[in-house]
Amino acid sequence: MRDDLPDGVERREIDGAERLATRGDPVYGEPTDEGWRAWNPARSKLGAMLALGMDTGLEGGETVLYLGAASGTTVSHVADFAGPTYAVEFAARPARDLLEAADSRPRLFPLLKDARKPETYAHVVESGVDALIQDVATRGQAGVALENARFLADDGRLLLAVKARSEDVTRDPEDVFDDVRAELEDEYEVLESRSLETYHADHLGIVARPL
Ligand code: SAM
Repeated sequence: MRDDLPDGVERREIDGAERLATRGDPVYGEPTDEGWRAWNPARSKLGAMLALGMDTGLEGGETVLYLGAASGTTVSHVADFAGPTYAVEFAARPARDLLEAADSRPRLFPLLKDARKPETYAHVVESGVDALIQDVATRGQAGVALENARFLADDGRLLLAVKARSEDVTRDPEDVFDDVRAELEDEYEVLESRSLETYHADHLGIVARPL
């Protein structure tokens, strides 16, 4: 694992192993130590991107729009080290747990919205966010990132997790990843893309910036 982590993310000895960790209340039964909570890369695509040493551009304190928040596993860690963190999730069941994770996190703002309809939250999310983090795992993942590019600051970063099987279970994941990278080129320059296979089968992590 690399040393160049965002402020507020550390590698710490927790429960007998060195782990990525943020400071905050536990959310998914993760081990804790003196206020620090382990960030499990096998349960978090962004955690995997950091653990694999991808240059996410995250420094800590930034404004974040997070798409596909589910029950808050990853976005709770983000809100532990980032600034205002808008968390979009369209399924009611996980959103209930997300609300609970937000209870002790004043900078985490859950939004029960569809990430394919950015106009429904454009009045809430401040424009010029520093990071757009996406993990929706549904068909049309590049399209969602394109539709939400409007929120990113000129020097912001898209941190995208692509699940190949969500696009087409029958295709070679590498072909799916090529198509996603090509589609993104309408709005983004891809700076880095890396397989997350160590932690997540058939997933690609992408770091990109707006054109
Ligand atoms: N990012 C989460 C984490 O690491 O804790 C896991 C996300 S899970 C793989 C994908 C989530 O995206 C699901 O909860 C799903 O309901 C949500 N999702 C899929 N399409 C969406 C959309 N169009 N708008 C909002 N949420 C969506």
